[in-house]
Amino acid sequence: MTPPKYLTGDKAGIDEFLSRFDVFLFDCDGVLWSGDYLFPKVAETIDMLRSKGKQLVFVTNNSTKSRADYKKKFDKMGITASEEEVFGSSYSAAVYVARILKLPAPKNKVFVLGETGIEQELKSEGVPYVGGTDPAFRRDIEPEDFTNLANGSALDPDVGIVLIGLDFHVNYLKMATAHQYLQRGALFLATNTDSTLPMAQSLFPGAGSAGAGVSKAVGKDPLSLGKPSQAMMDAIEGRFHFDRSRTCMVGDRLNTDIQFGIDGKLGGTLAVLTGVNKKEDFLAEGATTVPMAYMDQLGDLMG
Ligand code: PLP
Ligand code: CA
Repeated sequence: MTPPKYLTGDKAGIDEFLSRFDVFLFDCDGVLWSGDYLFPKVAETIDMLRSKGKQLVFVTNNSTKSRADYKKKFDKMGITASEEEVFGSSYSAAVYVARILKLPAPKNKVFVLGETGIEQELKSEGVPYVGGTDPAFRRDIEPEDFTNLANGSALDPDVGIVLIGLDFHVNYLKMATAHQYLQRGALFLATNTDSTLPMAQSLFPGAGSAGAGVSKAVGKDPLSLGKPSQAMMDAIEGRFHFDRSRTCMVGDRLNTDIQFGIDGKLGGTLAVLTGVNKKEDFLAEGATTVPMAYMDQLGDLMG
């Protein structure tokens, strides 16, 4: 396997690397910022790429926020970006349900295990849903719930899909409800299956971990609509029509971002060391997911 090229401080190497691509897919958290901390020279780097005529798409696995939420975050951070350039895993899932699955109504209703980001994107695509942030599901399970779930009286007969994202209010009632729908033949989708998510300089259980209880109960894994799933790449390509050989994925995480670019047969992948993975993870002997190039931080593209 070709070892990755280290680009920090290598002006000629950076120019040559940038010339190979017309489109950059950017992971967000760990590349542009960490939580509310904007990494140095990110806004300038984005402007520099735009001035060179590069097309940019911001691809995040964070399903708790919608594209509109992300646009607000970009504005707050002082980064130039439009809502149309944001492609989050909640939007990816909504697009998949509305435009690819296209289950005939009324069986196209979704039971959501997740936050407002998923709800907003389902609404934007005209997909009906139940669950989500509905307070009726934010409570302890009671003995009669078992009976009403088992006999179906607590279930919506129109639900044909279970969609799992990160739910900060995950509980037994929601898990049991999702499991009941799945036992009755509902399709099983996830916005993403990240095992962890970085917050406050530590790792916490991600959407994949929060949803793992339901997967275990039903004995199968959901189809993921987030990185590294190629269902997400296909959805992005459907929207932006780019040439994969002239496209580069930039990310901090090997098993989501870099794998996403490799599996998608993109022209290149660029890892930055401001997020989850460290260079030892891909420079080690026998490493399986190796980026084409890496740098200490995104702002180093400014030379
Ligand atoms: N999921 C959640 C809920 C998050 O908060 C984050 C990061 O903030 C992620 C996933 C990872 O996002 P990204 O793909 O932008 O690194
Ligand atoms: Ca990331």
